[in-house]
Amino acid sequence: MLHPVIADPSATRHILKKFKLRAVKGLGQNFLIDAYTVQKIVEAAEICAGDEVLEIGAGIGTLTQGLLEAGAKVTAVELDKKLPAVLKETLAGYENFRLVEGDILKINLAELMPQKFKVAANLPYYITTQILLTLLEKNLPVTKIVTMVQREVAERMVAAPGSKIYGALSVAVQFRADSKIAFEVPPESFLPPPKVTSAVVVCDVRKPPFEVDEDFFFKVVRTAFAQRRKTLLNSLASFGREKILASGIDSSRRAETLSLEEFAKLSTALQNNSR
Ligand code: SAH
Repeated sequence: MLHPVIADPSATRHILKKFKLRAVKGLGQNFLIDAYTVQKIVEAAEICAGDEVLEIGAGIGTLTQGLLEAGAKVTAVELDKKLPAVLKETLAGYENFRLVEGDILKINLAELMPQKFKVAANLPYYITTQILLTLLEKNLPVTKIVTMVQREVAERMVAAPGSKIYGALSVAVQFRADSKIAFEVPPESFLPPPKVTSAVVVCDVRKPPFEVDEDFFFKVVRTAFAQRRKTLLNSLASFGREKILASGIDSSRRAETLSLEEFAKLSTALQNNSR
């Protein structure tokens, strides 16, 4: 075989040793060492030859290699300045690989990925939510987002109204995509092992289910969940109590009980009445 498989404990240890690297905790570095997990992520992303794929955090190229082997054209964004030299060697010979050095939260993604693209990533867990919210922003031509996250975050992403973990992230994900947890991944599949169990979530991006002023909608959602134990009448008081009472949504309810449609109705009422 031309390329040795990176997703393997001894191969990964060997690469880290050779380049005198240690996984940097502050950068959320937990490298995959399980080829089966890499394969399952590639399958969950339904990679076809020629697919444009954005990877966040290439690390030493473990998942990248699986994506490239499946025929994807991969653009990987990596923040750690020590890793480009490593990737140059571990992914030498793959033609469809482009490395972008920088911070995924600061890069202009619309410019970087102007064509339809998918996301496949084993995310740095310290900024999972910010990354997901960035990817879900309107006007990006992203069609599918397949990410490894902490299991607890995965559950929040797909949580239904009425559950304790339903929150602003759930609404943002479900507004933009049909999502499901594909499978769980134990700590032993990584080097070093994270403290938590992980899960891979597949988000199929589609049109929002209704038309709203998105900026205002999300402002209402975030404000309502910022004080999730309070009734809507109190948590959203800054929008005007009369408008809440006139919205048609019971103002004694809490944010965590509202469906997306109800949030839309509430946000439209709050906005229209304020003009
Ligand atoms: N994909 C690799 C590495 C996952 S660990 C694997 O599966 O083995 C997460 C990676 O994200 C690390 O390489 C880390 O350096 C990188 N990273 C952390 N913060 C980042 C940021 N803000 N922008 C881009 N990459 C980041």
